[in-house]
Order: sequence, then C-alpha cells, then structure tokens
Amino acid sequence: MTNLCPECEAELRLPTNAMENELIACPDCGSELEILSLNPIEIALAPQVEEDWGE
Ligand SMILES: [Zn+2]
Repeated sequence: MTNLCPECEAELRLPTNAMENELIACPDCGSELEILSLNPIEIALAPQVEEDWGE
C-alpha cells in the first residue's frame, strides 16, 4: 500500500497491518499523519498536540 504525504508528497509505505485512526510519521518530513481510512486510503496531517506539562 502506498500513499503520498499530504505535507511533502513523499511516498509513504503503510505498514501491512495499518489500522484506521493509526498515527504514522512521514519518513521524509517527520510530520505526524493519521490514517483516516484504509479503503480507499485517506491520510491527513494529525492534529498537532502541544505538550505543555512544564516538565
Ligand atoms: Zn512528509
């Protein structure tokens, strides 16, 4: 399964056991991506969560 990173358009290879709602990282730009759907494959940038726990 292949798809393009919505951020940099690098070709992504999804793990064969990829699941919907799984988060993956683009190997090219490092963006966090979320698998919205597997059939058809839909990938979107994952919402940026800013950790602000002050640790
Ligand atoms: Zn990318």
